[in-house]
Amino acid sequence: ASQAEEKDLVIIGGGVAGYVAAIKAGQEGLKVACIEKRGALGGTCLNVGCIPSKSLLNNSHLYHQILHDTKNRGIEVGDVKLNLQNMMKAKETSVSGLTKGIEFLFKKNGVEYIKGTGSFADEHTVKVNLNDGGETSVTGKNILIATGSESTPFPGLEFDEKRVITSTGALSLEKVPEKMVVIGGGIIGLEMGSVWSRLGAKVTVVEFLNQIGGPGMDAEISKQAQKLLKKQGIDFKLGTKVVSGDASGELVKLEVDAAKGGKPETIEADVVLVAIGRRPYTAGLGLENAGLEVDERGRVVIDSEYRTKASHIRCIGDVTFGPMLAHKAEEEAVAAIEYIKKGYGHVNYGVIPSVMYTHPEVAWVGQNEQELKDQNIPYKVGTFPFSANSRAKTNLDTDGMVKMLADPETDRLLGCHIIGPNAGEMIAEATLALEYGASTEDIARTCHAHPTLAEAFKEAAMATYSKAIHF
Ligand code: FAD
Ligand code: NAD
Repeated sequence: ASQAEEKDLVIIGGGVAGYVAAIKAGQEGLKVACIEKRGALGGTCLNVGCIPSKSLLNNSHLYHQILHDTKNRGIEVGDVKLNLQNMMKAKETSVSGLTKGIEFLFKKNGVEYIKGTGSFADEHTVKVNLNDGGETSVTGKNILIATGSESTPFPGLEFDEKRVITSTGALSLEKVPEKMVVIGGGIIGLEMGSVWSRLGAKVTVVEFLNQIGGPGMDAEISKQAQKLLKKQGIDFKLGTKVVSGDASGELVKLEVDAAKGGKPETIEADVVLVAIGRRPYTAGLGLENAGLEVDERGRVVIDSEYRTKASHIRCIGDVTFGPMLAHKAEEEAVAAIEYIKKGYGHVNYGVIPSVMYTHPEVAWVGQNEQELKDQNIPYKVGTFPFSANSRAKTNLDTDGMVKMLADPETDRLLGCHIIGPNAGEMIAEATLALEYGASTEDIARTCHAHPTLAEAFKEAAMATYSKAIHF
């Protein structure tokens, strides 16, 4: 069978990149079909990424806080018990509500949802192995590749999602492991490590580099984050590389080498989380049938308008260049549809925020100190600690600071780095400022409500060109 009518646009992948593009295309009046094999829309982010991880982060934080941070607030609690099954149920309710919401939006915007696995038959035709059995094919004037990414495996350690796990396994363990080792101290390692540490596991993070947080995190902020996470009970082995692993015994064994010629060591764990990055996913997509190329890291090669070598086939999201972030995929989705429909579109890649949803949160946008130094760009720094912010004080949640980097001559904001409560929400203000080319004085002369955490943001801005009032 085949979907006889030619579509204006066929999208392969119904993750954030694909589903946002489908809705936008529907809104623009394009005849659009979206092929997704997972059985649910929303991709990694909604099903096994952003959403379930934030549900577990939020509820494990609440549990941890009730256990360790109530007495000094005048709250006496009785017997506190973890019901992991119900915590997982709460996570599943959030996920299914959101993924079903996208199905509704597809209907509302006239998007045809094809449940199956797509692969190129030729430049204009996508063959689909339907989830319910059988096959169909769709042809499109335009085709959009949005097949996302998958966890990078660690050689010699096979994922069983029970003892050797990716983030997906870490989102649905059936019991709290006694000892968990996390390979990789990037965002996934620290977020999922935090969840299981709060729920009672002894967590050790082994990181190859000398700092945690993955690419982009400012070194000073990263150091503070490490100190605070250590205080919460997470152990770190930095500058340490996992060389090999063996999961054949009762415990999983890892051989680690200190990166700079230190002594090799064996560490053991009930559960090992491999969080060493993600890689583009194009398996079975038949790119060769459309004459398309990937680079040495498996990313689909595109130009600045998201066009592959075949100009009617575009590609966005995790499967191509740039940071693997849901909001980046979403921006590209809108821009790609605008290119198709109107011939122009735009994403400002210099202004994409990053957030690590640990407690405290870490968030940043723009450039960090090291990046500015590497490019010989002069800068001035303004900081403000949450310990001097009235709202943080009333909340008894004062760890962290706001740090701003600005051009010493023009005062234009170059980057903002926050570690502290609600950093992930506060970074939106810095993002807007950066997008509009604001100076730190523009920010500091903008009235901020009192008492709010955002006043720390205003005062850090003030500190770059003058002095903060409260510190
Ligand atoms: P994906 O979401 O991976 O979607 C691709 C979809 O394509 C998948 O559903 C897949 O089944 C489908 N597909 C693939 N091949 C085919 C085919 N041949 N036929 C049909 N369908 C196919 N980002 C953030 O910004 N904030 C966060 O808090 C955050 N948390 C995360 C937490 C975790 C644990 C993980 C793993 C990731 C997280 N991310 C987060 C990253 C975010 O999930 C990704 O950047 C985002 O999902 C990328 O969207 P995408 O549409 O490009 O790819
Ligand atoms: P990452 O690139 O952030 O971190 C991987 C870390 O593993 C790096 O610090 C690297 O030095 C280390 N590493 C690699 N090999 C190692 C080895 N052999 N031994 C020890 N350490 C090793 O990748 P990730 O944490 O897996 O996350 C993948 C992607 O998912 C990222 O692009 C991230 O942006 C995205 N994500 C985002 C969020 C968020 O926005 N809150 C949450 C989760 C995931």
